[in-house]
Amino acid sequence: MNLEFNLNLFESVIMSTNPFDKPLEKAFSLGTEFLNDLDTQPVGARLSYEELKSLWSWDLPEKGMPAEEVIEELNESAIPGLNLNQSGRFFAWVIGGSHPSAIAADWLTSVWDQNAGLYACTPSSGIVEEIAGSWLKQLLKLPPQASFAFVTGCQMANFTCLNVARNYLFDQAGWDVEVEGFYGAPRIRIICGDHKHNTITRALRMLGFGRNVMVELPSDKDGKLHVDEVRKEFERDHVTPTMVILQAGEIHTGAFDDFKSIIPLAHAHNAWVHIDGAFGLWAAASPKYTHLLEGAEDADSWATDGHKWLNVPYDSGYAFIAHPAAHFKTFTSQAGYLKEDGKARDEYNWTPELSRRARGYTTFAVIKELGSTGIEDLVERCCRHATAIVEGAGQLPHVEILAYPIINQGILRFRNPSAGEDESKHDQFTEHVIAAINASGEAFFQPSTFKGKRCMRVSVSGWRTNEDDVRRTIAAIGEAICDVSRR
Ligand SMILES: *Cc1c(COP(=O)(O)O)cnc(C)c1O
Repeated sequence: MNLEFNLNLFESVIMSTNPFDKPLEKAFSLGTEFLNDLDTQPVGARLSYEELKSLWSWDLPEKGMPAEEVIEELNESAIPGLNLNQSGRFFAWVIGGSHPSAIAADWLTSVWDQNAGLYACTPSSGIVEEIAGSWLKQLLKLPPQASFAFVTGCQMANFTCLNVARNYLFDQAGWDVEVEGFYGAPRIRIICGDHKHNTITRALRMLGFGRNVMVELPSDKDGKLHVDEVRKEFERDHVTPTMVILQAGEIHTGAFDDFKSIIPLAHAHNAWVHIDGAFGLWAAASPKYTHLLEGAEDADSWATDGHKWLNVPYDSGYAFIAHPAAHFKTFTSQAGYLKEDGKARDEYNWTPELSRRARGYTTFAVIKELGSTGIEDLVERCCRHATAIVEGAGQLPHVEILAYPIINQGILRFRNPSAGEDESKHDQFTEHVIAAINASGEAFFQPSTFKGKRCMRVSVSGWRTNEDDVRRTIAAIGEAICDVSRR
């Protein structure tokens, strides 16, 4: 009795003085409640912009409040404005939902609160990136000697790779861009396709390249570069230092450029070849799809995402570079040193940031949770479900399949039965059907424009999607078409 009393006293003194317990317990119970409700809640956000603005209409607080109450209020206000991309029926953009181990590792990453810019700040956080980086190269079938960087997403991975490419090409041309900058620098040409992702253009802009140095070649019906167009461009000008930017996974069709033809051609002209493979690079994890990446391992740099197909929480992207010395030289701030001390890796020498989140833990956790066979299965499952939705919906009246999935992306268009050849009416009908699907709460899609036509992207990128989700989604598409046709 006495002992019990003392224990209680001990607990209440210790526990009540720890300011983290209540907010973390609150976050845990609200978080698990959110995850448990995914299958029964509408997939799209429930409130409009105006409604959310009025919900969030607080003035700057003068007095504080207990942390757990902040968490409770935050949760209550945020939930109605969240799209449930964790759900198995979310098919917009290329957004999946995180795996259990990754969410838990992310929570711990926050609890540990490490600054992963320097090894000395957080030894384990540096070590885990070394291990996870090496695992990623194995999964993605990239050269083992390639260097890597954990960045916030594929936008920054593209930026990181293209920054190294730029400096490398200037170096080859005898121009020291680190000393002279751009003034008087030799011209660099950039060859890319008209279906490159907009983050490529943005990365190039941030790197000081204007649009006039970009040679944007027309792509084929799936959004791939024509090898002959690339060859002709090199024949037209075979002296200007060049970057060739290729794509693994066009966002509408999932198409892959012809790496095994274009890369040797580009290398014969001393060009740097970069591959934007935000999600498509993950095809390498499956023997069924790896042929799409034939020759890709010979590129000079590769960018991909963790937060898309690997399903780790945001922010997570990876850059890989076949020229580690050029990579290090671009980002190190110990100018003049081309080698680290040979032991520990300081992440700031490989990324554009200094202080940064310890991004390795979530990636490590997912790879451990799934193993390479689990990742192979994730990739194949998403591809199978994307095909099932596109083909299943394709059987419904008024549906036109614009692109069958090559991997996990396909596109549908909805045709207004009374519009004949008027494409603008089909555009409008397509938008209305997508809005009706989203309003039903059963599934969530986004419209896009492909080769001048409005369409609905079917992007299956999350681990939770299963056969039942596919069935519910096709039914919801069918109902939305009926609804809109009746109007
Ligand atoms: C999503 C995407 C990007 C940008 O990635 P973020 O993670 O959003 O920065 C770049 N390229 C392609 C092909 C993409 O699909």
